[in-house]
Amino acid sequence: MGGCIFCEIAKKKLDSRIVHEDSDVIAFEDLNPQAPVHILIVPRKHIVDLLHLSSTDQTLVGKIHLVAKELAKKRRVERGFRMICNCGEEAGQSVGHLHFHLLGGRRFKWPPG
Ligand code: AMP
Repeated sequence: MGGCIFCEIAKKKLDSRIVHEDSDVIAFEDLNPQAPVHILIVPRKHIVDLLHLSSTDQTLVGKIHLVAKELAKKRRVERGFRMICNCGEEAGQSVGHLHFHLLGGRRFKWPPG
């Protein structure tokens, strides 16, 4: 997928601070962290956003959440963390490749901004 920065990161054509990788999922530190822990968990497969998921992606999405659980434990934020997926411009999605923000290490407010 030409021009997609997360595909480039997944293929190691673009540098990132990778914290997890397997055959389906890659996770790396967000370039502009919004919390002491801010990791992006990304499928290697190019999926634009949640609206573009299909039933064949069910296992993949489950796997992403299991990676989140392991990273939350590894980074010691079990007392509170968030998994956020911005879908669409109005929700603040700026990169058109499905990704989940794992945020932790500080107190969060509700409702989110
Ligand atoms: P979103 O606004 O939900 O699409 O999130 C995109 C996220 O990607 C933002 O938090 C950016 O800081 C992050 N980001 C953009 N480019 C990079 C990059 N090259 N490496 C790591 N994180 C990035």
